[in-house]
Amino acid sequence: MTERAWRKTRLADALARDDLRQRARQALAAGPLCDACLGRLFAKVDTGLANTDRGRLVREAVAASPSAQACPSAEASLSAPACHVCHNLFDTLDPWAVRAEAALGSLESETFAVASHADPRIVRREQALWDDVGGDLAEPYKQHFNRSLGTRLWQATGREPDLARPEVIVLVDHRTGGVTLRIEPLFLAGRYRKLVRGLPQCRWKAWPTSIQDIVGEPVRRAADGDDTRFHGCGREDTDVRCLGQRPFILEVRRPKRRRLDWAALAAEINATGQVEVDGLAPSARADVARLKGLQPDKSYRAVVELAEDVDDAALGRLADLVGVVRQRTPMRVLKRRPNRLRRRRVRNLEWKRLGPRLVELTVRAQAGTYIKELVSSDGGRTRPSVAEVLGTPAKCVELDVTAIHVAE
Ligand SMILES: [Zn+2]
Repeated sequence: MTERAWRKTRLADALARDDLRQRARQALAAGPLCDACLGRLFAKVDTGLANTDRGRLVREAVAASPSAQACPSAEASLSAPACHVCHNLFDTLDPWAVRAEAALGSLESETFAVASHADPRIVRREQALWDDVGGDLAEPYKQHFNRSLGTRLWQATGREPDLARPEVIVLVDHRTGGVTLRIEPLFLAGRYRKLVRGLPQCRWKAWPTSIQDIVGEPVRRAADGDDTRFHGCGREDTDVRCLGQRPFILEVRRPKRRRLDWAALAAEINATGQVEVDGLAPSARADVARLKGLQPDKSYRAVVELAEDVDDAALGRLADLVGVVRQRTPMRVLKRRPNRLRRRRVRNLEWKRLGPRLVELTVRAQAGTYIKELVSSDGGRTRPSVAEVLGTPAKCVELDVTAIHVAE
């Protein structure tokens, strides 16, 4: 026996039960019902049949039963008066599909989903029918409609239905007949290096450009999107270079194209000489939270200017900075961030003399360590600090992130 024949048998068995046959008879007596709305009343009896096929079988079973003369016959239904539940909405699936296909147009997407703004009048009439005859085996009309339209669009466009992570949601409004699209963002992961100073990571009023725009604009243009959002695995200050590769995810809003030439885009970005990207690859929304959750150690190169000459023996004491440092929120960011005390671990620190009052430090520290303040002490808000250990004012005059220790 084929699967379909078995389903039919199962439905027939169920309809052999008096209560279900009675339910069908009652539903048909309540007013004209299309096959879709009739079949949907018995959706949970089996799951392998389409509602319209099931509706036809139910109608036939009722017509063939002994008290058939009391009910509309299968033949009578062929003249098809308007269904009193859906007002023949399910007869209009093809025109809906044509409109939805037109809305999708040349938009590039591999996957899609259908969502409906239900017509509250249909919901009310369906609920009334359930109240009358029992709705425990029924499927809500909206769900049926979404699936049916989805199947048609799948066949017509080759796009795969994906309810969990669709690239585009086809939104249909049963009250107005309108079809609109909600295009999910395009997510692009990669790693960047920032080769120049004076460049903020994200768009910022006072600055002419940003990493967000240098990386994001070529991608946005290629994807024909509306705008971008930039998610970095932490960020360096505007005046700090990032010579190690920092992971990021770029989000392009409302992209019309998704199959992009990543190598060409990387080449275009890298030609700016300001930012270099590597490892561009498609990503997903869930990866943004994962990226934000990473707390990698960073390595830095800091050039430190001292107020007084310091001898090598004094510089040797810088080794004392390895360990835990206590940092109050720096004065320079107090306006934006709450004043709190944090403990961060300096893993490693080496020094090299560049001049009588100039030292280069190589530091590896836990994520979130304020390096400029580790040097200056920020008026005693960071302890210990280079200034405190050397006993002379110290200032970080040049800072580079040299490595971001992801996945070690
Ligand atoms: Zn109907």
